Parts: sequence; structure tokens; C-alpha cells
Amino acid sequence: MRYDIAVIKGDGVGPEVVGQAVNILAAAGQKFGHVFELHEALMGGCAIDAAGVPLSDATIDICKNSDGVLLGAVGGAQWDFLPGHLRPEAGLLGLRAALGLYANLRPAALHPSLIGACPLRPELAEKGFDLVIVRELTGGIYFGERGRVGETAFDTEVYSAGEIERVGRVAFELAGKRNGRLCSVDKANVLESSRLWREVMHRLRDEYPGVEYSDMLVDNAAMQLIRDPRWFDVLVTSNMFGDILSDEAGMLTGSIGLLASASLGAGPLGLYEPVHGSAPDIAGQDRANPIAAILSAAMLLRLSLGLDEEALSVENAVTSVLENGYRTADIWSGGCKLVGTREMGRLIAGWIT
Ligand code: NAD
Repeated sequence: MRYDIAVIKGDGVGPEVVGQAVNILAAAGQKFGHVFELHEALMGGCAIDAAGVPLSDATIDICKNSDGVLLGAVGGAQWDFLPGHLRPEAGLLGLRAALGLYANLRPAALHPSLIGACPLRPELAEKGFDLVIVRELTGGIYFGERGRVGETAFDTEVYSAGEIERVGRVAFELAGKRNGRLCSVDKANVLESSRLWREVMHRLRDEYPGVEYSDMLVDNAAMQLIRDPRWFDVLVTSNMFGDILSDEAGMLTGSIGLLASASLGAGPLGLYEPVHGSAPDIAGQDRANPIAAILSAAMLLRLSLGLDEEALSVENAVTSVLENGYRTADIWSGGCKLVGTREMGRLIAGWIT
């Protein structure tokens, strides 16, 4: 089969890690007989330098006409002086909005050979965990009315039933394809928006009898993630709670350089990117861990293209390379083999063939 993939390398380490993800797609294409036609587009700081705006209509068109979008990261200190709407991050928010991406999936799994990098007690870490946080991406307090009146400031959490339902469906469907357990996290003992969130989730619960459903208050969820992350399979929550809990869960895996993400909307088109930023402190030094970008490409294969076997072969290749003791600097420990970005990508591609 032939697929069109939009590739936005972005800034900082973005081009380095996406370069390796693209090589992995080529290796998977060769093994399984697919052609991934790449369409490069600019976004973020590099787009500002080239055309004065972080996101152009041309980039949006390339993405809309693709089967999936692979993104590195955007941003850097050289663009921090610009007004908010012209900064690199505005490009990312604009692209998510233009593509109608409202559900952000962030898997966090502890790899058996990285138990030592997990900050949990060894007896807990040894048991491992494998969970996905589904975060609502386009509503809630980050998008509600905000302002200042004299010395008082306010932000508003607003959710409609429709916004809750559509992200809820993504989470129920995902739980059905994984281990069949979904935990919805809210603050329904205090917030009216959370009470509506819970009501809508309960309506959906009745439509998905095969999924074992539970509710949890966000303060308890923050604690349970550290007490025993194995308890969770899929966790669905609002924009701000998801922002915070997914960083907490991510840290349990050992390094931000390992964490992939997918942003999905109503159709198959999705945006796939590492959770990390542009890491200017290590950019251009062949030190960035490309695994987050490579696992993001695996999510693209599975979720936008429906290529489960191909996605699994990429994930297995990552596992094999880690099991064989290869590490980039962020996850290196004594006795392991230290490799750079390019070598890590080359090794993973080699395990796919
Ligand atoms: P960051 O994620 O870029 O870096 C945080 C730390 O993690 C740094 O020490 C960095 O070296 C390390 N790190 C990140 N990715 C790594 C990788 N693949 N391998 C090894 N180490 C890695 O966060 P930051 O420093 O707060 O932000 C830098 C820039 O990135 C800022 O301009 C910020 O706005 C932007 N940013 C962009 C996105 C995005 O594009 N989605 C997300 C977060 C931050």
C-alpha cells in the first residue's frame, strides 16, 4: 500500500529525532511492502524564520491531505521575545485546532530493561506497568474565558456534554482494545464541570458493557499513579488534569525521551509527536533519544493507518535494542553501551528487517 505522511521536523532536536523516525518507517515499509510518501512541511520557529508565521495554510493543507502527521518539536529561546500568537507554540495549537484533534493519547509503560531508571521503589518497579492517559485536548480551563479585574484574576473551566462524550468514546474504544479497564478522573466532589463529566461518562458506560469502568478523584489518581501504576489500564480526563497526570506517569518510565503521543479527532487522521520539547540544550549534538519519535511513528502506523503488525514490529525492535543494552545518554547507566541519536535509530531499524 501507499501512504502519504506529512513530516514536520520543527526546531531543536526535532529534525534529528524525526529523521530517525522516518528511517524506521522506511524500514517497516521495506519489510511489509508499503510505500510511505513523505511530504515535508514547516512549523514553529523554522517557519517563523522562513515565512514570518509559525503555521502557514500550506502546512495545514499538506497535513489535511495526508494519512498521518509526524511531528518533532517546536520552540526555542530565540523566538521567546515574540508576542504569543506569533510564537512557535501557537503553530502547534493552531494545527491541532485546524485538524480537529481533541483526544491526546499518551502511553506510559515501563520497559523491563529500564527498571533501574524508574523512580519507584525497586519492588514496585519490578512489577512493571503499561497504561495510557487519554487527555481532552481542545476544551476545559485552557480555553475558557480568562481575565483580570484589578488585583483579581480568573480562568474558567467550561465543558459541553458533546466535548466530553467524544473524548469519552475514544477512551472506551481504546480500553476495549487493550485490557478492558477504564478509569475516568475528575473532581466531581467540587467542580460542576466534573459532575457533568461524570454524568456523560456514566451514560457511555452503559453503551460499553465490555469495559470495566471506574471513577476516581484527581487527587487520589495522582497518589495511586505512584502507589501502584499497574492498577491503571486506560485513564481518561480533562485537559488540565491530563496535562499534569501524564507528566507524572511519564516520569515513572525513566526519561521524557521515551514518551510518544498521538492526537486524534473524529477521523483516522492524527498528529504523532514525542512528548518532549525541542531540547535546545542538546540539539545538534547527536545526543537526543529518538525512541519517543520512533514510538510515535509506531502509533501512527497503528492508529491512523490500521497497520497493527507493522506497529508491533517497530515496538519490538525498540524492545530488542534496549534488551541488548544500547542506551542514549538520558537512560544510560553503568555497564550499558552508550550510543547517539543516529546509532540508536540505525540499530532499531536493523531489528525490523
Ligand atoms: P524539553 O522537553 O525540550 O527538555 C527538557 C529536558 O529534557 C532537557 O534537559 C532536554 O535535554 C531533555 N530532553 C528532551 N527531549 C529529550 C530527548 N529526546 N532525549 C534526551 N533528552 C531529552 O523541555 P524544555 O527545555 O522545557 O523546552 C524547550 C523548548 O521546547 C521550549 O521552547 C518549549 O516551549 C518547547 N516545547 C515544545 C513542545 C512541543 O513542541 N510539543 C513541548 C514541550 C516544550
